[in-house]
Amino acid sequence: CTNEINRAQSAKRNRPMVTIFEQIIKREIPADIVYEDEKCLAFKDVNPQAPTHLLLIPKKRIPMISDAVDSDQELLGYLMLIARRLANERLQKGYRLVINNGPDGCQSVYHLHIHILGGRQLGWPPG
Ligand code: ADP
Repeated sequence: CTNEINRAQSAKRNRPMVTIFEQIIKREIPADIVYEDEKCLAFKDVNPQAPTHLLLIPKKRIPMISDAVDSDQELLGYLMLIARRLANERLQKGYRLVINNGPDGCQSVYHLHIHILGGRQLGWPPG
């Protein structure tokens, strides 16, 4: 949608020092948290694009997947397995895991996050 594209295009230029997701990790702003452990946090997306729309984030600050380094291998694999678990528990008919990267990828929050989407028939290709 156009709004999200505009937001994504301006987000990289106006990158804040502390993102809204780090504020959620620190409980400085509220979120509907569904899972937490020492490495990651999952919460409901405030503007859901499907009946189930969760965001899974690492507690480590990795702004975007293109910033990930080789030593993040274990953390990134761990996130995929937690995403799988959260999705499997909720979405028996299938789901989608998405990582948006940079302006063209429609990323608007520069703290790495995996979207977990499902609960309806999703279309392809994405917009
Ligand atoms: P886009 O906004 O284009 O989906 P991202 O992939 O960066 O780009 O996704 C950021 C997501 O974070 C959006 O789906 C948005 O609805 C969600 N979001 C933003 N602020 C909050 C918040 N305070 N609590 C929960 N979700 C949020």
